[in-house]
Amino acid sequence: MMRSPTPDTPLIGILGAGQLGRMLALAGYPLGMRFRFLDPTPASPASHLAEQLVGSYSDHDMLERFADGLDLVTYEFENVPVDAVRLLAERTLVYPPPGALLVSQDRFSEKSFFVSQGIPVPAFAEVGSREGLDAAVEKIGLPAVLKTRRFGYDGKGQAVLRSTDDVGAAWRAMGGQPLILEGFVPFERELSILSVRAVNGQVAFYPLVENHHREGILRLSLAPVQGITAELQQQAESYARRVLDALDYVGVLAIELFEVKGQLLVNEMAPRVHNSGHWTIEGAETSQFENHLRAISGLPIGSTAPVGYSATLNLIGALPDPARVLEVEGAHLHLYGKEPRPARKLGHITLRTNDPAVLGERLARLRDVVSKT
Ligand code: AMP
Repeated sequence: MMRSPTPDTPLIGILGAGQLGRMLALAGYPLGMRFRFLDPTPASPASHLAEQLVGSYSDHDMLERFADGLDLVTYEFENVPVDAVRLLAERTLVYPPPGALLVSQDRFSEKSFFVSQGIPVPAFAEVGSREGLDAAVEKIGLPAVLKTRRFGYDGKGQAVLRSTDDVGAAWRAMGGQPLILEGFVPFERELSILSVRAVNGQVAFYPLVENHHREGILRLSLAPVQGITAELQQQAESYARRVLDALDYVGVLAIELFEVKGQLLVNEMAPRVHNSGHWTIEGAETSQFENHLRAISGLPIGSTAPVGYSATLNLIGALPDPARVLEVEGAHLHLYGKEPRPARKLGHITLRTNDPAVLGERLARLRDVVSKT
């Protein structure tokens, strides 16, 4: 018979059983937490650690089974149907609040929300028809980026329009669904800020992270970013704080930013733990995963101070020899238990050092090992 949950051993339900869910469970076990996952894909990464119900997020009977006996629910990805989350919210506590999901699921409502909070974003316009695309191109100018409003991730559902010749092909590839056109930002760097807000309104921020993407997929994160001014960190924190407070947010929130001419523009947010925060497992006093769990379960938030300097390398599509990775001093290997497949995130390596000067040299060795896989 299952033990009934007590305040000491909360049973937390997580929608999505991928690597983020798995790392949440890994962070929660030392705190005595227990987990149940729901995910349509059998044998997902978190299923190796906890019970996984296999079923659709739209299946109400499945959602009832999932909710039975839970103390609270959270989610590891933002494309969970809002209806499912609302149904669960009638049964138990759900954090982050469903309102945060609603805003972040649609790029147009997300950008409009940022604007309503006085947060700078790239120029944007909604596109619903071929004529609408021409009008948006006229308004925003070129180059520009055409994106689907919903379900885009890792650069999927996007096209860069460099000249008017590109417009027709982009429309043929993407037309027929709600779209958004954004001005192309000639950014110097891509950054992100991870923040966390507790049930009692306590807020903490991690230092800014520098992110490098290739083919739309995050490859490398460096934290804390070197050469960042206190003003830029403060600017990022003030934007994050506005979002957290406006949404009465609880949990970890990630915001992706472009740094351009000493200013920050917000690209998008993720109402969950984030790939650009994996460095916090070894590189911060309290990891993003532990802090998310602390926040949603009413515990005090832990220090977000960095411990030395970290670089996180994502392992995409293929895995390196673990022994060669671990030969590099300061390297920590995380494998997600997934079958290798092109463009799939299979794991990551975080390199942590006390001396920023050695980070670059060891990272070069690590990249060499990873590139030979
Ligand atoms: P997203 O799915 O919005 O995070 O976009 C994926 C990647 O495409 C970003 O990390 C950027 O490298 C690039 N990108 C997205 N939007 C823009 C933009 N408006 N201007 C320039 N690059 C962009």
